[in-house]
Formats: sequence, structure tokens, C-alpha cells
Amino acid sequence: MVQTITASCHCKLFSHTIEISDEIVENKLPISETTCSCDACRFRTGQICILTLSAKITETFPSKEVLSKLKRYDQKCGFSIGKKKDDNDSQSNSSTNNNMKIEEDDSENKNDHDDSANKDGLNKYSSTTSCDGTIITQFFCGNCGTKIYLQVSDIFDEKVEIGMWLLGCLDKIQLNDNNGKYLVDLKGHHFLDDTKDGGIANIWNRFNGNELMRYHDSLELWEPKSIKTTIISNEGKVNELKEKEEEEMLNLHCKCNNFNVYVRRPKPELPLPENCYWYQHPYDDKGVPQRYMASWCACNSCRITTGSSIPAHSWVQIPFRDIFTSNSTSSSPELFIKGEMTPTTEIPGLTKYQSSPDNKDISRYFCECCGSSIMYFDQSRSFIGSFPIGLNDSSPLNGTLNQSWFSWWTGESGVSFPPPINAYEDGEKRWGKLIMKEFEDGLISWGKSIGQRQK
Ligand SMILES: [Zn+2]
Ligand SMILES: [Zn+2]
Ligand SMILES: [Zn+2]
Repeated sequence: MVQTITASCHCKLFSHTIEISDEIVENKLPISETTCSCDACRFRTGQICILTLSAKITETFPSKEVLSKLKRYDQKCGFSIGKKKDDNDSQSNSSTNNNMKIEEDDSENKNDHDDSANKDGLNKYSSTTSCDGTIITQFFCGNCGTKIYLQVSDIFDEKVEIGMWLLGCLDKIQLNDNNGKYLVDLKGHHFLDDTKDGGIANIWNRFNGNELMRYHDSLELWEPKSIKTTIISNEGKVNELKEKEEEEMLNLHCKCNNFNVYVRRPKPELPLPENCYWYQHPYDDKGVPQRYMASWCACNSCRITTGSSIPAHSWVQIPFRDIFTSNSTSSSPELFIKGEMTPTTEIPGLTKYQSSPDNKDISRYFCECCGSSIMYFDQSRSFIGSFPIGLNDSSPLNGTLNQSWFSWWTGESGVSFPPPINAYEDGEKRWGKLIMKEFEDGLISWGKSIGQRQK
């Protein structure tokens, strides 16, 4: 007898039944796992970190035919799995052959992107014959952008060593409806150095009653480096902001850089409109807010389309008037969205997906090349876009949570309801009350530690 779970994308164009034998359920589940916060995972998905289900341990590697129904994005990674080549001759022969094969597989992408030499994807690396790393391939739905599967293979022999299902696209994370075992047992967070500030580890610090560990590579405990955090309290004014160059901008981009924009500090006309939540404290001498609103959503659409495999997904809301296609300091930098934005606006390099059949006012965008989630748009707030936090490129000054630019909503001080996470019920249904509460508690404690709320 086998147990089944279904991996499917939001638009249901892709659906695949994963069978897990009783023997594996009995002996191997739940699988001890850690999240990954490395730069590649964040920029390739838009998520603050990813959490996956090992296809090796569950013995659920999908066939090539199954994967051929999805778009793929190949990315060279410096770390190496499997054996290295012994002699140079066999190395260059082997790599030439294999790269040709891979290029054929990727011909669709290649044709779409003649300027791909500038991208961080496969085409750039396929001309490199001396690399001895791995190729990480993300498979995603070309229609809705749902991230489905990750594969790690040797750059030379294409032997797949590691396969992972993105947890967010699975129809459940517990095997039985009642008292079901979880598929994964989270132990901690990995590759935290890439986040500078610890990213998700600041918020998600318990799982099913156990403390979550912080790691970078291997099992050595990770400690935050001192980063220069610029933001203090609700009331506080910020001195360090002034030390920075005036034209400093925030860079948001996906893994392949098809999407690559720069955000300026808010420049609103004063007084601010009523209920202006998108521009946030602290205020400069003239009363101009300095940050943008960031918050969490646990809804099923965010989970599935982003592949968000953790209890909630984080977004920052930025008015289009503040987003530019370059960080040029010239007097008239080009706007990312020119003219009026609507749910049917096409954006070069991105694929549009209308995620709510009942609500034509909403559209989501993802990168057509690497699949990263890029933007959520709602016509009722047509001047503003929501961007996933994982696209934020933390400079040496600012970590992934980037408190210099983002004002995180962690709930109203002293108020326990509603929870500070949108669509909390969706999260509870998926993760259960305890894990969702642990996530919420972590968010609230962190909110206190950064002065966003007092109690
Ligand atoms: Zn789809
Ligand atoms: Zn991309
Ligand atoms: Zn959502």
C-alpha cells in the first residue's frame, strides 16, 4: 500500500501524484530538514528562504517526462557533488559533450534570451569548460510560475544527486488527515551568512516545540555579524540614514536579472494622504517617511504561486513612482512602470498570471526565465506593487530583513487579535495550530526586539 500526495501548480496545468511507500512512512518520515536562505534560493524564488522535501529519501524522483511539462532554469553553482575528473583531457571532452546536451534541453530559454551572456544562468556557464561545480535546475510552471521541483546534478555527467520537491506546491504536509506524521521535521536554518542579519531565523525560532538551530555551512552554529542597522523606534529619528549617500537606492532583482529595478527613498508630496500606510517611519527633518511597508501573508495563493514552503510569505509594498530601471543619478531615470498600471499590463521579461479567476483586478507576475515570483498587483491600489522580500539584495549594510528600507508589520502593540499575518486561517489549516502559533509568536517577539511594538 502507498500513500499519495499531489504536487501541483496554482493553475493546475501541472499535477503529479507522488507515491510514498508504507515502509518509507514508517521508517523515514518525518525527514529532518533545514530551510535554505542562500542568495541563489532567495533570488530564484522571491522567498525569504525555502523548505523542501527530499526526493532521495522519499524515493520520489520525477521522471524526465514529468519534468518536461515544466519550464526549467539552470544555474551553475560553485559547490561540487560527486567525483571530480582526474585528467584534463577527459574533463574537456566530457564537459563539451554534456554541455551540448544541456544546451539542447534549454533551447527554448536560449532563443528567448539572446542577451543571455549577461545572465547568471546556464548559457553563460555552458561556454565555461573548466568548471567543476554543479548545475541546479529549478522547474516551474510556465503559465502560473509555481515553483515545483529543484534538482542538483553534476556539471559533467548530469547525474542527478539531489532532488527536492518545493513544499509549497504539495497538497499537504501531513500524511493522514488525523494524527498524521509531518513530511518534514524542521531542525533549523542554513546558509544564514548570505542573509547578513539571519533573515528567517529571527522570526521562525521554534518548530513543534523544539528550538530551531542557526547554521551557515555544515552544522557549525551561526552567529550574526555586526551589521549597521539604521532603524530604531516608531518615534525615533535616524541619524545614520543621513550618513549615507543621498542617491543610495534599494536593488530588487531575480536570479537571472531579467527583473532588476532600483527603488529610491520615498519622495511624497506633503502632507501625506490619509491612511498612508505604504510610506513608513522614521521621518526626516521635513517630515518625509523613509521606509516602505513589509508584511506577511499565509494565503494559499501566495503559498502555491511563490512555492512558499514556510508558514507565511513576506512582501514589501512600493509605489510605482519610486521604482526605476536603473540606479542612474541622472535627472530623469526611467520608471519601471510607465503610464497607468492595470492587471492586464504586459511587462517585458515577466509572465503575467491572473491568480484569482473571480477577481480580474488581481494579477501576479513572475520571471519568464528563472521563474522567480516578482510582483502582486491589485487594481484597487493601482499605484502600488507588492514585491516578495527575497528579491531584495541586501547590501553589506542591510540584511535580508533590511530594516533600513522596510518597516515590518508585526502587529499592533498589546493587541493579540487579529494576528499580524494576513490569511492566518489558511496557514493554520496547512501547518496546524501549534506551528502557526510558534511562527506568529516569533514574529511578535522580533517585532518587540526591533521596537515595532512595545508589548
Ligand atoms: Zn501552473
Ligand atoms: Zn529571473
Ligand atoms: Zn497571500
